[in-house]
Amino acid sequence: MSFVSKISGTTKVCGLFGDPVEHSFSPAMQNAAFSSLGLDYVYVPFLVTPADLGQALAAVRALNLVGVNVTVPHKEKVLPFLDELAPEAEIAGAVNTIVRQGGRLSGHNTDGAGFLRALEADAGFAPEGKNVLVLGAGGAARAVSAALARAGAREIRIAGRTAQKAAALAREINERTRGRARAIRWGEEDLLEALPDVQLVVQATPVGMHPRPEDCPPFPFQGLQSGHLVCDLIYHPPLTKFLARAKAAGARILNGLGMLLYQGVLAFELWTGVSAPVEVMRRALVEELHHQSSSK
Ligand code: NAP
Repeated sequence: MSFVSKISGTTKVCGLFGDPVEHSFSPAMQNAAFSSLGLDYVYVPFLVTPADLGQALAAVRALNLVGVNVTVPHKEKVLPFLDELAPEAEIAGAVNTIVRQGGRLSGHNTDGAGFLRALEADAGFAPEGKNVLVLGAGGAARAVSAALARAGAREIRIAGRTAQKAAALAREINERTRGRARAIRWGEEDLLEALPDVQLVVQATPVGMHPRPEDCPPFPFQGLQSGHLVCDLIYHPPLTKFLARAKAAGARILNGLGMLLYQGVLAFELWTGVSAPVEVMRRALVEELHHQSSSK
């Protein structure tokens, strides 16, 4: 487990705003990265309730923090408190990383870019010209769809439990990017019809996540073959039921650990201006995953 060796008057402070924060993997990952490079930084989790979000953001300035990550339930609500938004945050309509420069706060979204980097680095997959099927229409689906559209995916087909949300997300992608998206019905027949010319499937719902690993979203696994790459954005457990069934059907699989890693890598680089020690951060995440799995 990583630890911070020395905190002094010069230590720079980053952190995480969320509710809850106690199971976050980010403190272990970021503090391991700071220690391994000998950087005088520390990363602290802050439990911030929705009612206190404005005051917490004022404190980023008042307490001279370098920046913070933002997680559930604040990723969208934080926007009005920021001075500027990076293009990917504007398109996603959500922020997961804030950087303070003097008195100004800029909002970034490294989730989408982190997902793209995981696809490329951990699965050798380039989205340009590919058709993608996304299951779910929440915040993660939005960040991933926007990033895929910007990276030149051919068509993004979005299946959501709530049809209006999937339709709204597809409309936003079409309006805000040069990409093409459409909503499809989440039913066996429609998914089977969509799969043959799809190369990437992204499971972006929380179904199957710890503490309910026995759950699995309904999906026609018989429509998968070796040409499909199937990603589940969940990383705890590392092998969800969804991924296990996709693998058994012959598809290549990728879990959400790479996305978590690379969104953190990009946040680290925004705060420090230094290349992140990727393998140190990956090891810290895997250790934290083992630690949390064995202590439940
Ligand atoms: P969210 O904003 O709450 O959205 C969840 C989506 O899943 C919604 O579209 C919701 O449908 C759908 N959903 C929920 N329960 C469902 C069910 N039983 N059947 C079908 N659809 C269901 O959550 P999020 O932030 O997008 O997170 C989604 C997942 O991605 C989580 O597991 C999260 O841990 C993971 N994630 C991973 C990373 C990473 O770095 N690897 C980053 C972000 C998120 P409705 O709209 O109908 O409610």
